[in-house]
Amino acid sequence: MKSIEWSKLGFEYIPTACHIEYKNINGKWDRGRLVKDPYISLSIAAECLHYGQAAFEGLKVYRCQDGKVRVFRDIENAKRMISSANYACMTPFTEEMFVDAVNKVVTANIDYLPPYGTGGSLYLRPLIIGSGPKIGIAPSDEYIFLILATPVGPYYKEGLKGVNALIFEDYDRAAPYGAGRYKLAGNYAASLKAAKIAKEKGYPVVLYLDSKEHKYFDEFTSSNFFAVTNTGEYITPESKSILPSITNMSLIDLANHIGIKATRRSIEFNEIDNFSEVGACGTAVVITPINKITREDKSYHFNSEKGPVIQKLYNALVNIQLGRAPDPFGWMRLIE
Ligand SMILES: *Cc1c(COP(=O)(O)O)cnc(C)c1O
Repeated sequence: MKSIEWSKLGFEYIPTACHIEYKNINGKWDRGRLVKDPYISLSIAAECLHYGQAAFEGLKVYRCQDGKVRVFRDIENAKRMISSANYACMTPFTEEMFVDAVNKVVTANIDYLPPYGTGGSLYLRPLIIGSGPKIGIAPSDEYIFLILATPVGPYYKEGLKGVNALIFEDYDRAAPYGAGRYKLAGNYAASLKAAKIAKEKGYPVVLYLDSKEHKYFDEFTSSNFFAVTNTGEYITPESKSILPSITNMSLIDLANHIGIKATRRSIEFNEIDNFSEVGACGTAVVITPINKITREDKSYHFNSEKGPVIQKLYNALVNIQLGRAPDPFGWMRLIE
């Protein structure tokens, strides 16, 4: 293997020793194998290519302060991926199979796990695809489930960095009874255009309101929305069309644990004047502070980058992930 400069890692795919791959033909999963070749061979008529029968996950493995290797809440990713697979009529795997796959792929790629102190981690990307040939639209008879592992760098090198968010009136992410709460590949293809336009206007992230009325907050393209109110409360939207973020679930528990009231409820856009901090949360960066939200010709500013609540929650979660603080909820699972 080529030596990796840990300090230069970003959030990009780097080929590693191998991935783990399972096949399912007519409803039965095989026992899986580690595969060196980072390519898969698919029929040109594979269901996933034409009709998007695909779902993915994202989770991280850390080298902790005590030198041990731990993964953050992988059982939650297993559950969520099984629910995504079920929604897209894919034959799901079991939680046990997922956890076993995580153990095997991490162990086989242990040389790619960034050392403690670099701020990096080993990012796992589980993927399930309908791989059987289909021309008519129907669930595939064959599936591939794989997990790839790739090292990623610290997102923040010198303190939390805030960004600006844009709300569109003419792009929606997910319908009220649609697929927004599942990590289906197609949701992200459908978000690329709005993200590109926003970037060109100088907004790194897009914030979506509910697509029925544009009255309530939903979430960002690939992270959940939360706000800290002027009274110091953590609030995050209750909605059928947002992805249930494991980071957000964890921040809610942590907030309550450290004495910050945290509530999940529908949040109207016009509550925006009561926010002191706004954050986007997800596995990739934990929390991205939002400095400004722009909707049509109006902008709203927040003290998110230096905000005390975001700082506190960010530090509390990262300290658990790196084994620098006790893990009162049992979120970290040791990989031996
Ligand atoms: C993955 C994802 C998130 C974040 O979920 P985590 O489990 O915290 O990584 C939030 N929103 C969307 C749309 C996502 O795809």
